Amino acid sequence: MAEEKRQFQAEVGKLLDIVVHSLYSNKEIFLREMISNASDSCDRLRYAAITEPDLLDGGSEFRIRLIPDKDAGTLTIVDNGQGMSHDELIANLGTIAKSGTSEFLSRLTGDAKKDVTLIGQFGVGFYSAFMVAEEVTVISRKAGEAKGWKWVSDGKGEFTVSPADEAARGAAITLKLRDGEKEFLDAFRLKSIVKRYSDHIAIPVTLKDGDTDEETVNSANALWTRPKSEITPEQYREFYHHVAHAFDEPWSTLHYKAEGAIEYTGLLFIPSSKPLDIFHPDRKQHVKLYVKRVFITDDCEELLPPYLRFVRGVVDSQDLPLNVSREMLQHNPVLSKIRTGLVKRILGELKKKSEDADGGYDAFWTAFGPVLKEGIYEDFERKTDILDLCRFRSTQGDGLTTLADYVARMKDGQDAIYTITGDDLEQLKKSPQLEGFRAKGVEVLLLTDPIDEFWVSAVPSYAEKPFRSVAAAGADLSAVKAPEGAEDSKEDEAPADQLTTLIEAVKLALGERVKDVRASERLTESAVCLVAAEGEMSMHLEKMLRAHNQ
Ligand code: ADP
Ligand code: MG
Repeated sequence: MAEEKRQFQAEVGKLLDIVVHSLYSNKEIFLREMISNASDSCDRLRYAAITEPDLLDGGSEFRIRLIPDKDAGTLTIVDNGQGMSHDELIANLGTIAKSGTSEFLSRLTGDAKKDVTLIGQFGVGFYSAFMVAEEVTVISRKAGEAKGWKWVSDGKGEFTVSPADEAARGAAITLKLRDGEKEFLDAFRLKSIVKRYSDHIAIPVTLKDGDTDEETVNSANALWTRPKSEITPEQYREFYHHVAHAFDEPWSTLHYKAEGAIEYTGLLFIPSSKPLDIFHPDRKQHVKLYVKRVFITDDCEELLPPYLRFVRGVVDSQDLPLNVSREMLQHNPVLSKIRTGLVKRILGELKKKSEDADGGYDAFWTAFGPVLKEGIYEDFERKTDILDLCRFRSTQGDGLTTLADYVARMKDGQDAIYTITGDDLEQLKKSPQLEGFRAKGVEVLLLTDPIDEFWVSAVPSYAEKPFRSVAAAGADLSAVKAPEGAEDSKEDEAPADQLTTLIEAVKLALGERVKDVRASERLTESAVCLVAAEGEMSMHLEKMLRAHNQ
């Protein structure tokens, strides 16, 4: 087969354009990305070989080699992992599979400085090679396949794919360095980059400098197996970047060893910024499963409930067998114990962080609260723990409040936690439904996340106080005394018979369109408002479901 010429997917083209033309200050991270991909590829092959040992023909000692060639001006990164087939080369290195890509691209401003910050958060992975290389060649043979392939591109819109007869299993990525980027041929420089970003990679990374012997330049042991006291914050951060394919700072790092009936090590991270795909309908969790330091899968639904899908990291079990298959992971008693342990640790960590005034909990809440709240009705046993972690806007003050504080502020005679739901905070604050509550000084929680509709109707109470919507017909404030000095609305109340006549007239006019018309104390300024009948879904929920054609 001759050479095929292909176009990059339009999104990749745009991304490459920014990568190449913006003066990204931190170019050295390209090496971290290459090594991270090589390591992932070795992990995947090791796991695949558990059920298909023949895939390891040609060697089971995994290694990532860095080969600078000063004469040619090239740096080659070689791994003996899973490699890529012809089609995979085209799909993986010609498109972006990452969800959130189009949102990311739409946020680009054209202002190089701002865009570079955005790229920093989004990450460009493989394409970062073009920050330092004018041409990238990937020679790869997929494990188990006889034929190899060569992928070449200058990053300007096109790439070619052609057969490569001599290809070894895995991938060899050669970067033809631009003038001005030749520092990446220097052994000392390469070593220090590996130490800084890739020391935690569990596979040996070796460097071949000219005629000298090949030398291992990373620690090559799994970071989570080291004692906490020996791990620096930078090492934790770099590990997080690798394991989460993320580029922000971890907000929280949780590293522990569970001992007892079930033994496992957890190294978990909570990101500081919201991943773009956090509301993807698959609601997949993102913690990777290892067994005795061997990568098993990054797709184990049983490991964490969906409402903790913002958590990143690894769990390494001592008790599962190495040859554990996907089927064995379902309804696995060991795994379900690990899951219980993880949930407890994570919620405990969140509780601790929430009690630390400088811990940045409000920012966490703003990013991930809507996800965590799914747990209120999905994890019945932990409902109260999760409610304790919740923060709300309310009609009192501009900040966030806990439910406990709300309850402490409840008025004499107030028998429920009042809520109002809608899409927009400012609009909610102006709702006529709140007038009566305001007049009596009764605080109302302002709920604007779509998820709020679901849990408020599913959860009966907090601290024995029921949740009640201000828009529900039963919201009754007659037992709450108006604050001193407030106008008593009874004074200008219409005589009873006039009111009855008015109500009859309104009922007649609206007919079938309403269930009932009643006089109410809930309004002080507006003449009328709509309320939902007791036991029926709220108007906001109805509107939301209608928008989804349900
Ligand atoms: P990510 O690592 O987040 O998936 P990248 O842009 O770094 O994104 O890499 C894109 C894809 O290219 C990877 O998901 C993988 O499928 C493939 N890939 C990159 N480098 C290698 C490699 N050395 N061996 C095998 N596959 C690779
Ligand atoms: Mg990558």
